[in-house]
Amino acid sequence: MTNTNNQSAGVIRAMNPATLELIREVPAMSAKDVLGVVEKAREAQKKWASIGISGRLRYFQKLNDQIIANIDSIAETITIDNGKTLVESVNSEIYPALDMLRFCEREARSALRSEKLSHPLFGVLGIRSSVLYEPLGVVAIIAPWNFPFAIPVTQILMALIVGNTVVFKPAALTAVVGELIRDLFENAGFPEGVLNVIQGSGGVIGEAIMDSGVNRVAFTGSVPVGKHLMKRAGETLTPITLELGGKDPFIVLEDADLERASSGAVWGAFVNAGQVCASVERVYVHRKIAGKFTDLVVAKTRQLRLGDGRNFSTDMGPVISESQILTVEEHINDAVGKGAKVLAGGKRWDGLPGYFFEPTVLVDVDHSMSCMVEETFGPTMPIMTYSDIDEAVEMANDSRFALTASVWSRNEKRAEDICRRIVTGCATVNDCEYTYGFAVCPWGGPKESGIGRTHSTHGLCEFANIKNICVTSPRFTNNLWWHPYSETAYKRMKSMAGAFYGKGVINKFSSATEAAKTVVCK
Ligand code: NAP
Repeated sequence: MTNTNNQSAGVIRAMNPATLELIREVPAMSAKDVLGVVEKAREAQKKWASIGISGRLRYFQKLNDQIIANIDSIAETITIDNGKTLVESVNSEIYPALDMLRFCEREARSALRSEKLSHPLFGVLGIRSSVLYEPLGVVAIIAPWNFPFAIPVTQILMALIVGNTVVFKPAALTAVVGELIRDLFENAGFPEGVLNVIQGSGGVIGEAIMDSGVNRVAFTGSVPVGKHLMKRAGETLTPITLELGGKDPFIVLEDADLERASSGAVWGAFVNAGQVCASVERVYVHRKIAGKFTDLVVAKTRQLRLGDGRNFSTDMGPVISESQILTVEEHINDAVGKGAKVLAGGKRWDGLPGYFFEPTVLVDVDHSMSCMVEETFGPTMPIMTYSDIDEAVEMANDSRFALTASVWSRNEKRAEDICRRIVTGCATVNDCEYTYGFAVCPWGGPKESGIGRTHSTHGLCEFANIKNICVTSPRFTNNLWWHPYSETAYKRMKSMAGAFYGKGVINKFSSATEAAKTVVCK
């Protein structure tokens, strides 16, 4: 079987995963080129930081115009390079990028504005204190192939708006989308060196990035590479954000609207051919409604139309590579070998030469099977039943991943309460996966789903050096805790403790009076 992308002699041969046709040859860099690129980004950073948020937003506005004017060609490039349908290229790739542009325009100024801090002791000690959100310097963004546009573009924008410059390594399997991003930023007039695209193999380029002195790494990808990069980051104490895998539970309560829940499950499991970190990878349905829910899911799954994502009648495109298909087959074979039944799909689809696998529904599954515990990252939906909600919550939490979770019920309040009991970074009621598209929502999860958050003001802060400045008035000749130490100094500290941390107005007042006697002013 042909690889989707062959790399040889400094060139990535980008292939369409639906047709296996060559799209384009993209020049790849070598490890020794990386230092030069990081240096260029560092040179550009001071000027980029100096123009302030308003100056940077002017470039963001031009990028926004570029994206809106070129939606058709952007969507087509993503679809050809990644395989997803045109509808998905617009709603799950272009929309999140536009929403992040809007978020930066609306929220960045207030989120990154310096704040004054107050504390009752500051007045007594003559202190003014503030918090500043400064750029870190050069940020490296290493991105996966499953959302080759939305993931890097949203992270690039967050890093840039703070005043950092960026080196960006696209996944080799979607190198063409990496080039598209480079072109869009160039056409929007971003100054040279602000966004630097480094094409090449992850093992080679990634290692060189980790040794390059970048000031933060934002990595999105698999758990093994994430763990490796965290070790590497530990060698230089480079801050690192890790957005890793998911095995996301979908809990259907007995009072759920089954039409909505079954459509949501089918979309959530098979959007982007199941190659979504927040994909519906485990369904837990109440025993009483399991039969009806499963019948609806199976009927809707069988109606999905496979094909080239460029055709508007296609509901599901190919997966990205042969190795993705092999993982899906391995999980299905393991499950069937242990007693599971395949109710829909279960095999490759040969309508086109590319990497197609039928959307697959499995029942009679349990947590001894890899399809319920390992990330499949392909078009499978294993369905398990439960008898009471405690059991469902326990099964949902029985995972080394915790990225997203969803609960489906007509009783929104009850469903929300159940969300609070699930260990996860993001939870939704009566819907799934979509929150990545809203830049105001924090993204990321605990356990092996990663470290840190992207998107939202929390994500912005990860790209900032949060600096505290405290200014003391020179009117104060000596500080309370400075030398010389003495019994008076001890008594002063003791009465200050009562004045500021003790309870009761009278006690506080008498302690404050005692303390004030010991403070020396010019
Ligand atoms: P991957 O193999 O870990 O690759 C991700 C990126 O890392 C690619 O650009 C890759 O480059 C690069 N890379 C590979 N080895 C490297 C190394 N030693 N040092 C530095 N970089 C290296 O992951 P993937 O297969 O592309 O993506 C699928 C995984 O990403 C899934 O587990 C999915 O759940 C996760 N994901 C998580 C999120 C989230 O937000 N939490 C979102 C999307 C995907 P090459 O392409 O050149 O190998």
